[in-house]
Amino acid sequence: MSFDPLGLRVELLSAIASQGYTMPTPIQTQAIPVIFEGCDLLAGAQTGTGKTAAFALPIVQMLGENIPPEKRRRPRALVLVPTRELAAQVSEQMNNYARRLSLRSTMIYGGVNIQAQIERLHRGVDIVVATPGRLLDHAERGTVNLSRIKFLVLDEADRMLDLGFIDDIQKVAEYLPEKRQTLLFSATYSQSIKQLADDLLNKPRHIEVARRSITADAVTQAVYQVEKSRKREMLSFLISRGKWSQVLVFARTRYGADKLTEELLYDGIKAAAIHSNKSQSIRNRTLAEFKRGEFRVLVATDVAARGLDIEHLPHVVNYDLPQVPEDYVHRIGRTGRAGKDGVALSLVSHEEQPLLKAIEKLLKFNIPLKELAEFPQYAVKRSGANKIKPDNGPSKARKREARPAKQAKAPAKQAKAPAKQAKASSKASSLGRNKAAIERPAPKLGRRRSRER
Ligand code: AMP
Repeated sequence: MSFDPLGLRVELLSAIASQGYTMPTPIQTQAIPVIFEGCDLLAGAQTGTGKTAAFALPIVQMLGENIPPEKRRRPRALVLVPTRELAAQVSEQMNNYARRLSLRSTMIYGGVNIQAQIERLHRGVDIVVATPGRLLDHAERGTVNLSRIKFLVLDEADRMLDLGFIDDIQKVAEYLPEKRQTLLFSATYSQSIKQLADDLLNKPRHIEVARRSITADAVTQAVYQVEKSRKREMLSFLISRGKWSQVLVFARTRYGADKLTEELLYDGIKAAAIHSNKSQSIRNRTLAEFKRGEFRVLVATDVAARGLDIEHLPHVVNYDLPQVPEDYVHRIGRTGRAGKDGVALSLVSHEEQPLLKAIEKLLKFNIPLKELAEFPQYAVKRSGANKIKPDNGPSKARKREARPAKQAKAPAKQAKAPAKQAKASSKASSLGRNKAAIERPAPKLGRRRSRER
């Protein structure tokens, strides 16, 4: 089926064509007619299904049919999203359609100076894409007038609730007219989503796409079991051996993301991190560079990665499993988007087994377990090392020193125990350590730098 029967204006069809879309995705085929009918909508659509265009196209078209004459227009469509990154992406798509019909769209999010946003709102806009907290701030200051809103979209509603935005959303809703069309998109349904839908939607139509599996079908998933202390090594190995062009790696903490990035750089793999401790401008710049293919590994925390839309992202790695099982679905939805294949791998340590079980329970299937035959198995023996030191295992300091010390001592060991050395060098080569990695600067320097941060 083409886009033609959906009744979109020629300007929008040409925008779609310029994006390279030839066929509507299932959520677009189902949602666009419902939105044109004027019904409220409760849509179960995972990320990567094309849901942004599914709501943006009909809203822009309907707004464009009736543009108020005044110059300082008040917003008539409001899209609430969980994160700044998603705001940027939705806004970019909205803008792409809106400007073709002489409509103005802006985005509002926290963490940046509010003044520029106030000025933009004051100049007049038709569409606002916003995170709930900052929008509420504007509503309370009276710097945004929401009394003309005709369309309210709650995008990735489950995630907004996970991030604790429920109160802000309810308060924002109090500024909106009763008579409006409300569309709620969510990858997962929980009791709290149903409650939110009951509160904000009026006799909604239900659409569910990709019910078969809650994870993107085009994503091949696998689990590798590996000791926590060897995850970095395994990741470097997978990237180098697989000649991965680009990978998005999820780390649990901001500190973990920075540390992993530093270690990958140390291994000669170009990497950068994004998380909420970095300023928005740095996050935007890093993302733009990653999209341009200027480096291979983007290490991100869940909040920072939410809404990232990177075309042709072939790999996602869960370096740490998420604490919340639903985040697994969101994470792996970064790859395998809009019909393209993707691979999502999880590096799972012994301690993370309960998290893996919780994810598999949510998915209703066991993620295939894979082994890396070439990857040295001595990681498993680390539990043996723990036996030698039964108190609390090797100290942090020892763990930190482990890698460089092995390399530094190797020649001496070679003289004493050739068999042992042969094993060590086969480990090194099978780890894919390239020349640059072996010739890296004196390890102590790097370590010291990492401690200073
Ligand atoms: P979304 O679920 O809105 O985040 O969209 C996921 C990805 O699918 C984005 O990269 C869109 O540009 C892309 N996309 C949306 N609609 C289509 C379509 N009809 N054909 C191909 N790609 C699409």
